[in-house]
Amino acid sequence: MERRRPPRPNTVTTTVTTTVGTAVGGSASSGTDPVKVATLPPASSTEKPAAPRAKRGVPEGLWQKCDGCGATIYRKEAEEMQNVCPQCGFHWYVSAAQRIAQLLDAGTFEEWDGSLRPTDPLGFRDKKAYAERIVAEQKRTGMCDAVITGTGMIRARRVACGVTDSSFIMGSMGSVVGERLARLVERATAGKLPLIIISASGGGARMHEGILSLMQMAKVSAALARHSQAGGLFISVLTNPTMGGVAASFASLGDLCFAEPRALIGFAGPRTIKATIRVELPKGFQTSEFLLEHGFIDRIVARKDLKSEIARAIDYCGG
Ligand SMILES: [Zn+2]
Repeated sequence: MERRRPPRPNTVTTTVTTTVGTAVGGSASSGTDPVKVATLPPASSTEKPAAPRAKRGVPEGLWQKCDGCGATIYRKEAEEMQNVCPQCGFHWYVSAAQRIAQLLDAGTFEEWDGSLRPTDPLGFRDKKAYAERIVAEQKRTGMCDAVITGTGMIRARRVACGVTDSSFIMGSMGSVVGERLARLVERATAGKLPLIIISASGGGARMHEGILSLMQMAKVSAALARHSQAGGLFISVLTNPTMGGVAASFASLGDLCFAEPRALIGFAGPRTIKATIRVELPKGFQTSEFLLEHGFIDRIVARKDLKSEIARAIDYCGG
């Protein structure tokens, strides 16, 4: 994406500003502005334009290229449609905070365990140290880690709700994500609340935390099993992308599994699978539509209908 450049310094303007500044400081009662007149370019100077207009360009983020159809879309128009492409219906990224705002009744969300912060138990380092990466991601996204959990209302039905965010280290599940989700499930069980988890995790388990992140898969899954035994309802919503250890654990364990249209959902990436089994993969492999056809998910729900469909499912299941 193009970054806005600071405007190029303009010689004439600079001179005017400086000189006028001095003039104002010196004499405030001056009716005319002789200094300004003096600094204006001579009328005959046509060879060299005195004040070339600085290139402004398009303000960042006004337009966005759609990953679905390649069209350039006016961002505001897509935002009004909850970040869905108005031309082809492709569902773009939404942050966890935006998702909560879209899904829950206004002003009803109350965060749980927001004070949990990730640590760097292995002293892990790839291109940069994990400890530094965490701080940079927190600063960039305004989140503590890749998940937000809490409670709120969906069309006046109280729910326990968790949302992962693919912009924070690919939405991968480290110890904090796992712990917050496990606590969310346990509170849902104790409070007899319908549980909704919306997954947007392209990274699966977080490799920076090694085995500790893999343990989260079992921990959250075990909590979900207890929730199920207690008769609790769990609706899992898979969005683009849901991959790796997240897809292989809690995201697949919903009593109902919804998915947004054309979302990438799978375990290993298609290239890895192709290289391993040496077979041409079928068209549309690892999309919501393909998975619906093969019984992996229950329903594809467009973003605009998600709130109503969840409310309907809760009522249907007697939640
Ligand atoms: Zn599109």
